[in-house]
Amino acid sequence: MKRIGVLTSGGDAPGMNAAIRAVVRKSLHEGMEVYGINYGFAGLVAGDIRKLSRRDVGDMIQRGGTFLYSARYPQFATEEGQLKAIEQMKRFGIEGLVVIGGDGSYRGAYALTKHGFPCVGLPGTIDNDIPGTDYTIGFDTAINTVLEALDRIRDTATSHVRTFVIEVMGRDAGDIALWTGVASGAEQIIIPEKGFDITQVAENIREGREKGKKHTIIVLAEGVMNGHEFAEKLDAIDNFHVRVSTLGHVQRGGSPTARDRVLASQFGAKAVDLLKQGKGGLCLGIVKEEIIAHDIIDTLDNMKHTPNLDLYTLNEEISN
Ligand code: ATP
Repeated sequence: MKRIGVLTSGGDAPGMNAAIRAVVRKSLHEGMEVYGINYGFAGLVAGDIRKLSRRDVGDMIQRGGTFLYSARYPQFATEEGQLKAIEQMKRFGIEGLVVIGGDGSYRGAYALTKHGFPCVGLPGTIDNDIPGTDYTIGFDTAINTVLEALDRIRDTATSHVRTFVIEVMGRDAGDIALWTGVASGAEQIIIPEKGFDITQVAENIREGREKGKKHTIIVLAEGVMNGHEFAEKLDAIDNFHVRVSTLGHVQRGGSPTARDRVLASQFGAKAVDLLKQGKGGLCLGIVKEEIIAHDIIDTLDNMKHTPNLDLYTLNEEISN
């Protein structure tokens, strides 16, 4: 392959720019050309496409967000949209496509693959909820952002002897809550993959107080319920005066960590290697520190993401 395209789609994640940069620089190194597609699949269908040079990706590795912009474009689920996208790529002479995004974006790449167009999906989402990879681009940055906020909230919780519920992102996955719960020394972690018993949560708070704990931090994954709802349930059992903090979109922004930049660079370069050899229909992952490629159809049809639930057990053992 001589000419490929790259787009970012779905929720933005820190490190997407580093991934685009790697795709462009590695392609140029291999004597290939890269076309950037603005606004994800929406821009692909509309033909919002331009050639990217080495300089277009200069001063980008450290920036959060995505300079190619992202969009939600549900119409891409229709065959009409997919065929139009392929037609646009043919018009520009693009022979393969790198799709950087979450599981929804992978569905777009899956659809193009089924039409015979070579795609490579790179996992880009703070949620870490993609099958076939231990980590996604953006996850490490997001958990460090959440951790900074949790450390600050802990100061207040301790000073006022308070119970805080901190709602974190993650869609239906508990990874962000698990990692930040362990890293912040949270008393309890509530995630969708594990049930919870509100009377037991209340009991744990009381026990902690009796042992002389000055604060209770509960990290709640958004996939369970929202923080205010959870606090109301707790306050209905006892008057804990629970405070709620919903971290929201601060979790998505910011300069990527070293780990996210390195991961994004490795994924970007690997995608180019594969497309250069004419290999598509793939998505990349890092498994036990090795960058590997999976069949994208098999990944979406048969694989499931599961967070590291050992962290849940660990937290129960060491947090009280
Ligand atoms: P995140 O989880 O971080 O928000 P995401 O990639 O899962 O990222 P989505 O909004 O679910 O975000 O998907 C991004 C885009 O992928 C959609 O707006 C749409 O253009 C495309 N897409 C999603 N589902 C499909 C599908 N079933 N078929 C084709 N394209 C799809």
